[in-house]
Amino acid sequence: MTEKSKKHVDACRFCWMCRHICPIGNATGLERNTSRARALGLSLVNRGVYKLEDVVDNLYECACCGACTKECVTGYDPVLFTREARLEAAMEGVLPAYINRLVEHCLETGNAYGITELDDGLRKAVAAHVQKTDTLLFLGVDARYKVPAAAVNAIRVLEKAGVDFTVLMEEPASGWQLEYLIGAASETREQMTACAGQLNAYKKIVAFDPQDAVVFKREYRELDVGLTAAAVTFTSFLSDLVQTGALAAENSGKEVVYQDPFQLARDLGETEAARTVINAFAVCREMLLHGRDTMWAGNLLMREWMPEVMEKVAAGRIRDAEGVGADTIVTASVSEYASLKAAKQEKVKIFSLEELVLGQGNES
Ligand code: SF4
Ligand code: SF4
Repeated sequence: MTEKSKKHVDACRFCWMCRHICPIGNATGLERNTSRARALGLSLVNRGVYKLEDVVDNLYECACCGACTKECVTGYDPVLFTREARLEAAMEGVLPAYINRLVEHCLETGNAYGITELDDGLRKAVAAHVQKTDTLLFLGVDARYKVPAAAVNAIRVLEKAGVDFTVLMEEPASGWQLEYLIGAASETREQMTACAGQLNAYKKIVAFDPQDAVVFKREYRELDVGLTAAAVTFTSFLSDLVQTGALAAENSGKEVVYQDPFQLARDLGETEAARTVINAFAVCREMLLHGRDTMWAGNLLMREWMPEVMEKVAAGRIRDAEGVGADTIVTASVSEYASLKAAKQEKVKIFSLEELVLGQGNES
């Protein structure tokens, strides 16, 4: 653990100013699911009172959403020490079995789910775009293997705008899942470097998944992974298409609220692009905790080991929408879309940005 992380682990204590903002702590109501409790456990590990394996499960009860980091008035960074402690756990060989299984899948198949085959419909949609162009639409593992309909819709949206683009039948792993699971380990860097090597054949990479956008635009630079292609978010790419008129829009006048993915709003500081797209097709209202203050709505990866908590996290976000009288949430993260759609409720409809653009109905 770096000196900076050790300092944050020791200094983060009892102020609780970030307690209310943690989506997982809010969902479970457990004190252990706060950054303060995680820091306390790690400081006891650093002092030799606990072993790392005593607190390792707790390291995986954090989404690394950065809400606490943003809220911390003293500038401490719970995401940093959590990631470093995960790397340490991997290096010491004390990862929980349920995490080891996902890491092995990432190394063997490029995705934590261990899926190797594409859905037939997606395979067909991709087949129409395998020819090399300057622009690569990078779908990401969640869309490709867990929500293929979202991947097909991303392709349809770019087709609707007349974009000349490529989609890879065999897409390399960006490395975000490995980075989340074991931090900046050599295996993570190797996966990222191999991915950059393939992506550099293109001028522009449009990252459909905000999580991929963050690693392409931030982590690759920080880890000195040589990505020379220009990476842009799918939302900013769509916003440009709307503003140039390439993506024709007819406004339905329907009022919706937008679920900011923390990866876009906090990690990349992008809050307006999706709103520009939404306001071209509907009317964007705001719910509690939006923009950089956004509250995460759950994801597919953590559902692998915390399914009940993910349901509660999504339910909490749906309540936030209901709280402002909204009946429709629009998402820009395939993982949050899946998480919100899985919630057992009928009051609030969940739309992806692509569904809004394509004018598709919502069966939820
Ligand atoms: S991370 Fe900052 S705001 Fe949160 S408990 Fe620690 S010191 Fe307080
Ligand atoms: S990063 Fe997010 S999930 Fe993790 S402790 Fe902070 S607020 Fe909670």
